[in-house]
Amino acid sequence: MNIHEYQAKELYRQYDVSTAVGYPAFSVDEAVAAAGKLPGPVWVVKSQIHAGGRGKGKFKEADAGEAGGVRLAKSVDEVKTFATQMLGNTLVTAQTGEAGKQVNRLYIEDGSAIARELYLSALVDRETSRVAFIVSTEGGMDIEQVAHDTPDKILTMDIDPAAGYQAFHGRKIAFALGLAGKQIKQCVAMVGNLYRMVVEKDMSMLEINPLVVTKDGDLTCLDGKMDFDSNALFRHPEIMELRDFEEEDPMEIEASKHDLAFIKLDGNIGCLVNGAGLAMATLDIIKLYGCEPANFLDVGGSAPKERVTAAFKIILNDDAVKGILVNIFGGIMRCDIIAEGVVAAAKELGVTVPLVVRLEGTNVERGKEILAESGLAIVPADNLADAAKKITDEVKKLG
Ligand code: GDP
Ligand code: MN
Repeated sequence: MNIHEYQAKELYRQYDVSTAVGYPAFSVDEAVAAAGKLPGPVWVVKSQIHAGGRGKGKFKEADAGEAGGVRLAKSVDEVKTFATQMLGNTLVTAQTGEAGKQVNRLYIEDGSAIARELYLSALVDRETSRVAFIVSTEGGMDIEQVAHDTPDKILTMDIDPAAGYQAFHGRKIAFALGLAGKQIKQCVAMVGNLYRMVVEKDMSMLEINPLVVTKDGDLTCLDGKMDFDSNALFRHPEIMELRDFEEEDPMEIEASKHDLAFIKLDGNIGCLVNGAGLAMATLDIIKLYGCEPANFLDVGGSAPKERVTAAFKIILNDDAVKGILVNIFGGIMRCDIIAEGVVAAAKELGVTVPLVVRLEGTNVERGKEILAESGLAIVPADNLADAAKKITDEVKKLG
């Protein structure tokens, strides 16, 4: 789960991590009031969306002006102008896709005088099973380019969880970032606090770009992107409260209510599968046969009929879906329950697209009977390749 920059900065404050002073604003009036509480002479007006690249982004609407989603204002009047231009308008960045994201919240921040822009991120490294820090002197808006062109300018260092964070880790990072004097001490303390934050809050990713050295020579975090492990959210109600439903796909919200592992994709073949591995294999084989999946959906190992029904309804309600592939390898999951769920959802919403079903495993005969008795126009398939061929043929026919 992602949170907004202004929420991330609140967490920095809780962990004594230096960041500029600022306030969130949900309306132009609130933006002006927020600016009034800050000293100036420079304010930063920042669009709050769950996507990076805001600085270089562009608004779709002409009345939003030419500049991007992060703007420096020289007066409270200018804060007002920028807030008016941003709120309610759609920001398109390298990370939002063409549709862009509507800006509903702003963050009004005290402007910093920047001497150097650095990069620091932390993530759970699957290879080492440790939290790793990634740093670079080349922070700012082009870090992807740096990673591509000059990967040697990026240093990775992991922390042994048994020994924990040590001052030498922080010093190593400080030297890699070319810090000097009091910044080294600040860096050692900051990285230690960040490590504690990442571990205590079960983050899967933290990205600070830019981490800056100010003209006064202090180290401070000017951006914050945080991603939390959704499997650990049950023990962080305070983080769950930060969830912004407007930033999420409505289908994914519906799926999460039913504990379904669901991800919306760009294609047109809806997939209902049990087991994440089988779901991945199903996506692969659809691509192999020349089409694109509309979603990843894992109903899980032992879903009740209601969850299967909810899952199938989500697929049926997706206008992008031009064909459906049900691929079940029932072990713990019973094929008859899958069949009942599919039939219940189909009866309620109707199926107007081709439906290919491949069932295998526990109670498969009963499952097939239920489907046959339902009167649904189902194309049965014998195995994964057969199923993929049949559904992709059907969808290709539609053109
Ligand atoms: P992103 O483009 O979504 O990553 O948004 P950022 O929060 O990183 O802001 C983009 C850029 O705006 C930063 O890389 C900085 O160069 C600039 N910026 C942000 N805050 C300030 C500030 O307080 N002062 C100055 N001079 N520039 C800032
Ligand atoms: Mn940034």
